[in-house]
Amino acid sequence: MADKFTQERNRMAAEKVIAALARRHMDGRYAETKEEALAIALSLIPAHSTVGWGGSMSIEEIGLKDAVRQGPYHVIDRDAAKDAEERKALERQCFSADYYLMSTNAITEDGILVNLDGRGPRVAALCYGPDHVLIVAGMNKLAADTASAVARVRHTAAPINALRFPGDTPCRKGGLCRDCLQPGCICSDLVITRNSMFPGRIQVILVGEDLGY
Ligand code: SF4
Repeated sequence: MADKFTQERNRMAAEKVIAALARRHMDGRYAETKEEALAIALSLIPAHSTVGWGGSMSIEEIGLKDAVRQGPYHVIDRDAAKDAEERKALERQCFSADYYLMSTNAITEDGILVNLDGRGPRVAALCYGPDHVLIVAGMNKLAADTASAVARVRHTAAPINALRFPGDTPCRKGGLCRDCLQPGCICSDLVITRNSMFPGRIQVILVGEDLGY
């Protein structure tokens, strides 16, 4: 758990971000800890909902995927796919899920979400398809403004995320983004979510601990 000064700052900052999200027709909540975040997330997903997810360390770290697998839900589990074809089919099924779980690569103080995908299933589902998108984001994802958020995503999150997948990109060899376009590049679609046309479709749980990258 964060020390008391970090906790206090996170709580105050989250309050501002949640107000900014509301102006953009997105719902925000604050959880002090991973455990609290898990309880809030589960309270938002009605029993018997169909639930899928995109690649996210954050939802894994708070135990949300396991809790959903063990709970009263119809689960679209892309992680259980036998091969790439089955994974693609499951990712497409997620577009008709009741709830889609993900994190965000960054969120601005003014409530703008910034995400970057290689193949695109996660940012596609964020933009369109699932009736509800539930985002879990540690306060380490907070950035001052859109430019800082994009810089965070491209220069901090992406080079670390790249190491989770096979490939031969410059960041995998040297730890720094070199703006590559080569096979295995995980930086294809940069999506900036500045509003939700459907109020409350996107729900964000900000967590007062570091989660993901
Ligand atoms: S080097 Fe390529 S894959 Fe790595 S972070 Fe930069 S654009 Fe993405």
